[in-house]
Amino acid sequence: MTQLRSTRGVSGGAADFETVSGSRGGLQATWLLFEYGAVDRSGVDLPAPKGRPDRLGGLARTAPIGVPGLSEPEAVRHYVRLSQRNTAIDLGVFPLGSCTMKHNPRLNERMARLDGFADIHPLQPVSTVQGALALMQELSRWLTSLTGMPAVALSPKAGAHGELCGMLAIRQALIARGEGETRRRVLVPSAAHGTNPATAAACGFIVDEVPGTEDGRVDVEAFKAKLGPDVAAVMLTNPNTCGLFERDVKAIADLIHEAGGYFYCDGANYNAIVGRVRPGDLGVDAMHINLHKTFSTPHGGGGPGAGPTVLSERLAPFAPVPYVVADGEGFKLVEHVEGQEFGRMVAFHGQMGMFVRALAYMMSHGADGLRQVAEDAVLNANYVLARLKDAFDAPFAKYGPCMHEALLSDKELRAHGLETVDLAKALIDEGFHPMTVYFPLVVHGAMLIEPTETESKTELDRFCDVMLALEARAEAGEVEFFKTSPRLAPVRRLDETRAARQPKLRWKAEEAAMKQAAE
Ligand SMILES: *Cc1c(COP(=O)(O)O)cnc(C)c1O
Repeated sequence: MTQLRSTRGVSGGAADFETVSGSRGGLQATWLLFEYGAVDRSGVDLPAPKGRPDRLGGLARTAPIGVPGLSEPEAVRHYVRLSQRNTAIDLGVFPLGSCTMKHNPRLNERMARLDGFADIHPLQPVSTVQGALALMQELSRWLTSLTGMPAVALSPKAGAHGELCGMLAIRQALIARGEGETRRRVLVPSAAHGTNPATAAACGFIVDEVPGTEDGRVDVEAFKAKLGPDVAAVMLTNPNTCGLFERDVKAIADLIHEAGGYFYCDGANYNAIVGRVRPGDLGVDAMHINLHKTFSTPHGGGGPGAGPTVLSERLAPFAPVPYVVADGEGFKLVEHVEGQEFGRMVAFHGQMGMFVRALAYMMSHGADGLRQVAEDAVLNANYVLARLKDAFDAPFAKYGPCMHEALLSDKELRAHGLETVDLAKALIDEGFHPMTVYFPLVVHGAMLIEPTETESKTELDRFCDVMLALEARAEAGEVEFFKTSPRLAPVRRLDETRAARQPKLRWKAEEAAMKQAAE
């Protein structure tokens, strides 16, 4: 019974009584696999292999390694129970700004599971994977057409990885010009996503921050003042992380080019302009595209992403290998280019499953459908902004509409002794994943709400109604209510800093035994 009352039972829930089992209705208590498995148990029942040759040169394991065994139903239940403690875009509105948590059409999944895409190996002879290579080339064609850029490197495996690809290509181009040592400074706006300065620094550049203006854009005068013969590039997000279009983007591109630098565009917010604006026309030299954001492949929770990086004429010669080419005999992978110093970003070709999903998404929408995606995403965000901007402080609303994200500050909440985190935690009890909080850093207690185009008006209204009702509770001075939220979630308010800084990643048998004995 002691174990059943484990703290790993469901601690949340407003019910004022403890259950014997630790479960709460259909929400089952669960434990670590180590706690309910046993080393002498197994979910498989195979006869021991007979007469096998020893291929390990006498290094075969002699003692069990202590990995718990479970029956199949135990293993299945464990993971289903864990999944019930999580949230998902398939459960409800997930308005996490900058992350584009849109619905992932099931058609994509069906395509990605086709044997010819799912069951191939990167080392198979290319003659046996012609269809997969054709798909990669078709995806490249869509990406270069949509962005108006001549080349694309498909292999980067996330947005940040695509940034690395683009900035390494810029570094290679500078080295080829003989300016690898002299052009060391990269200009990054103050509102940038953390991956931008991190990428620049990882590539050996010096990060120089460009301030923003009152209305949430890059300060072009300040930017101009920072240009010089030691500037390698600017890294600009457009629409930016305040959810606003950088009106001066063309001027910024011209200025950086005149100064001999490159324009890296963070394309994570591409969903707001896909099909409407071609970044190539704005003077972009390199831009990553988060397939998992704009083109709807499942992400969050560390699932696989893909960050193909489109490159301008000037940077195309510095693209990493491999890439697909077609000749009279079919498709081939170019794995080596004489004199090309960049090399490759990944061991093989990139995230095939994401390529299939993204292309299925593009083809099912078509060019007109993709344009509508951008329009509806912007419309939805403006609807949310319009409904919330009077009850909450919306620092940029007075300067005009937003793009795909509505940005609020915690000014109203602070007036009632509350802050952004308190509202976010209360949203969890209402069944919503919180919006992005405390980002961008340029807005105090920022709340960045990105509804995406896949939410209906009914869902948006439900979300806005809850936000307004919570604001009314803040107004009424219900500080205690907020400070003790969430109450209905499987885990309540955590010391998140400590959880991040001192994660407990190991289970030690002796410690567990001692704890058990103490109980
Ligand atoms: C998501 C995001 C990134 C990084 O993309 P990942 O795929 O998470 O690595 C970079 N910049 C911005 C603005 C983003 O929103």
